[in-house]
Order: sequence, then C-alpha cells, then structure tokens
Amino acid sequence: MMGNEKALLDRLKRPLKDLRISVTDQCNFRCTYCMPKEIFDKDYPFLEKTELLSFDEIIKVAERFVASGVTKLRITGGEPLMRKDLPDLIGKLNQLKGLEDLALTTNGVLLPRVAHELKKAGMDRVTVSLDSLNSDLFGRINGRGIGVKPVLEGMKAAHEAGLQVKVNMMVRKGVNEQEILPMAKYFKKTPYILRFIEFMDVGTTNGWNMKEVVTKEEILKTVQSELPLQHVPENYYGEVASRYQFADGENEIGIISSISDSFCSSCTRARLSADGKVYTCLFASNGTDIKTPLREGATDQELDTLISRIWENRTDRYSDERREGAATRKKIEMSYIGG
Ligand code: SAM
Ligand code: SF4
Ligand code: SF4
Repeated sequence: MMGNEKALLDRLKRPLKDLRISVTDQCNFRCTYCMPKEIFDKDYPFLEKTELLSFDEIIKVAERFVASGVTKLRITGGEPLMRKDLPDLIGKLNQLKGLEDLALTTNGVLLPRVAHELKKAGMDRVTVSLDSLNSDLFGRINGRGIGVKPVLEGMKAAHEAGLQVKVNMMVRKGVNEQEILPMAKYFKKTPYILRFIEFMDVGTTNGWNMKEVVTKEEILKTVQSELPLQHVPENYYGEVASRYQFADGENEIGIISSISDSFCSSCTRARLSADGKVYTCLFASNGTDIKTPLREGATDQELDTLISRIWENRTDRYSDERREGAATRKKIEMSYIGG
C-alpha cells in the first residue's frame, strides 16, 4: 500500500501517524498494575454497551484518521479479544486506503480461538503481554490465577497462523525483576521479540512510585550480565522501543523507557477510547468527544476538521515533564485508554 503523504503537525511539529483504538474497557485479567481487582470489582462502573462505539463508528473514525495521515492502527483495550466479532472489525479496517500497518495488543489467552480469523482478516502482527514465566507469580500479577501456559499457547497459535508476534513484559521492582533474565533467555530462542516496559504512572489506581521502576539501564545491565547485546538503530521515526540485538545474532530485545528516557519529542500517537473520545497522550486527563458529532451525523469534512483541530493544538509531553519534575495531573486509566 502507498504511504499517506499528508501529515498533520502538532504544536511541537510532531506528525500524526498512529491511532490506538481501545475497543472495550472490559478485561478477563485483573493485573495489579492496571486493573487491581479491589477497584475493578463487580461494582466498578464499566461502560454500558450503548456507550461503546459500534464497529461502523470505529471504522468511520479510523477512516478519517487515516485520511488525516495515520498509517498505523493498533487495537487494544481492556482486552480487545473480549469484544465480540473482532475479526469483522479487523477485516474492514484493513480495507482503509493509506493504512500500512494493523496490529493488536492482547493478553493472549483468547488467541487460539481467533488467530486464524485475525490473520485472514488482514491483521499483520500481535503483541502479547507476559510479565513472568513463573505461573504462580504470573497468576498473582494477573489477579486471576491464570498460569503462563495459556499465554504461550496464544503466542504459538498466532505464530502458526502467520502473525508476527512480539512480547511485552512490564517490569516492576519487588514484583518481577527477577524474571528479566529468564524471559530474555527463553524468548531469545523463539521467533518472538521480547520488549521490556518500564512500570508507568498511568491512571490513578496502581499506586505508582518511582522507586518501583526498573530503569532501562538496569534492565540492560541485567540482561548483559549473561547475554551480551548490541544497540541497533530504530526501524522508523517514532519507534518507542530502543532495540538491542543479542551479540550472537540470535534474535533481539526492545526496551520501552517511558520513565527514564522519555520519547515525547517523537510521539506521533493519538488514542481513541472505547466510548469515542480522542486523547493525544497516554497520560491525558481529558479527551475530545468524537462520538457525539458522529452520532449527530457529522460529515467527513467536519470530522476531519475536528481531528486537525485536536492534533494541531496538541502540546503534550507528559513523560518529559515528569523527568523535569513538573508533571502533575489527574489521569485516565490504562484499561480505558489502552496501552
Ligand atoms: N489487555 C491487553 C494486554 O494486556 O496486552 C491490552 C491492553 S494493556 C492496557 C496494554 C499494555 O499495557 C500491556 O502490555 C500492559 O502490560 C501494559 N501496561 C498496563 N499498565 C501498565 C503500567 N502501569 N505500566 C506499564 N505498562 C502497563
Ligand atoms: Fe487487562 Fe491488559 Fe490491563 Fe492486564 S494489562 S488488566 S490484561 S487490560
Ligand atoms: Fe506521547 Fe504522552 Fe507518552 Fe509523551 S507522555 S510519549 S506525549 S503519550
């Protein structure tokens, strides 16, 4: 597919290139750092069905974002595979002219059921989250006692279906940093690329504390203690993971260092929440409602004008501000906006 030449620039001259679409705020896990079960219990006010964007509405918003310069879409949540008939949505998104990349982030356990359908619908790749290879620990982290096996089976199903697989490991001090090396060793020998993510202060429910962050440098040091690495250049402008190849040439890892080495200056992402709000930063406090104009019959041109107004007014650089010690704001939850 041809790239889309048009690019909207925000106030810091960053182009709009990616859209992350959250298709549900529900999840079958209760990860302690994302949806702690004490808070996300049966009384939690999850979105009503009528509040969610329908597939047709998601497609329309995505279409206007692609027409505005977006070339990459990532489907996320909550757990996106909990949204019924997701492959139907993927099939339609895949037809958008100008789209170059269509990916999904998932906890993986539902992949065996849908991996083939996703591939057939045009999905290119999936990122599967896994924070430990130790089932007891992983079960505690995911809050549902779910072991490692169903997640590894999900990765395998995706790989066998022809999807490229990456693995996300969120690292939190005192919780799973001892798993860094076992994970690196294990995934080195697989067709999957492992990416470590620094524990972030998303939302307000995970009790984030800087002391619990295992930094990129610490992660590198741990991996390098047994597996020498070489830095490799980024694949494209705005890539969030720093890449390192194993010195023996077998596979590579990535590190997403939102905390210790922020990358706001090349952040090209917008986010669409499951209930139709557009956010210009993962750490935003407010979004712009695009569902209401959509439901009131806005024309394509009106939607395009709204999108350019949102992007052209964007000044977000929260992670840079955090490093400068200037970041304070009320934030939305990760499960709502998607990772
Ligand atoms: N449920 C799917 C999953 O877990 O992959 C998709 C949504 S989840 C919010 C997306 C990613 O965000 C996951 O890889 C998860 O580990 C990561 N994440 C959630 N909360 C985080 C936090 N506070 N810091 C760092 N990563 C986080
Ligand atoms: Fe669910 Fe993903 Fe959040 Fe875990 S990280 S609770 S799997 S949305
Ligand atoms: Fe982008 Fe906001 Fe993250 Fe900075 S803090 S990289 S602007 S999402």
